[in-house]
Amino acid sequence: MFKISTKVTGDFDLGIDKQWVEISCPQCLLEESVQIKDLLNEKLIICRGCKILIRPVDEWDDAKRQIKKINEQFKNIFKGF
Ligand SMILES: [Zn+2]
Repeated sequence: MFKISTKVTGDFDLGIDKQWVEISCPQCLLEESVQIKDLLNEKLIICRGCKILIRPVDEWDDAKRQIKKINEQFKNIFKGF
């Protein structure tokens, strides 16, 4: 199960692609921090725990949906100012 969650730092002006998200290793469930930029570039991530290669692209549709949702949340935050 691929999970993605945000760690919003407050640097909203950096843009969505510079934000860090956490993804869980599908094997050992250890969380890895990756930049959305790297997800967009379909970069492979090596799990610190079990050293397998995580391919976010395998679950990309779901990740994209979630990034879109995060993006919309960001827009709403901007609207608030
Ligand atoms: Zn792992």
